[in-house]
Amino acid sequence: MSRWESLLAVQGHDTRVDQLARRLDTLPVRSQLSAAGERLSALDAQLAAVDERRGELSRSQQRLEDEIASLNERANQAEKQLYSGAVSNPRELQALQDDIASIRRRIEQIEDDELEIMELSEPVDAQRAELATEHDRLEAESARLAAELAASEAEIAAELADVRSQRDAVAADVPDELWPEYDALRSQLGGVAVARLVGTTCQGCHLQLSAVEVDRIRKKGVDELVHCEECGRLLVRD
Ligand SMILES: [Zn+2]
Repeated sequence: MSRWESLLAVQGHDTRVDQLARRLDTLPVRSQLSAAGERLSALDAQLAAVDERRGELSRSQQRLEDEIASLNERANQAEKQLYSGAVSNPRELQALQDDIASIRRRIEQIEDDELEIMELSEPVDAQRAELATEHDRLEAESARLAAELAASEAEIAAELADVRSQRDAVAADVPDELWPEYDALRSQLGGVAVARLVGTTCQGCHLQLSAVEVDRIRKKGVDELVHCEECGRLLVRD
């Protein structure tokens, strides 16, 4: 392979490396994964809010149940006293009965309050179940996307390693003095430093060179550096 053909082959591999690196950077599955992650965070926040509301309702319900339990205890004590025979004064007996009746009424009121809280809890529980289902679905989707991303990254990394080793093999045939020019042109011209001249057309910029210019190029020695007058790239002539 001539020095120019080797350089052109290196250019081909470098272009492929650039494409693969760009593909690696812009894998659509990566942004899908991060979008799923954002939705999961938002769901976590919603779940936390629902859990807080549910916790408040549970605590209220517990308070009412505790109150009912202690009122029941009081009513039972009073009934025990009533039927113990220890109290015989009719007025005291009447007072005890009134007390028991009042405690039972209070218990009924509190049981109504508790029922209301249970009714309020139902839609909260339903919402929580819905959010949890969506959370599970998103988590599964995230795991699937993460696996897909890892597989794509591994595939591209393997291809990159392959192309790089091919590139290094041809690069060994390129004379050292060509590298500064090649590297400088590559960074100035979007990664493409060297192109073939086919007929009168530069394959770098796809513009036709004038007949006079092509003639001038043809007369140059094969080892001489020749640039496209349109784009400035190194031209490889047959
Ligand atoms: Zn050109």
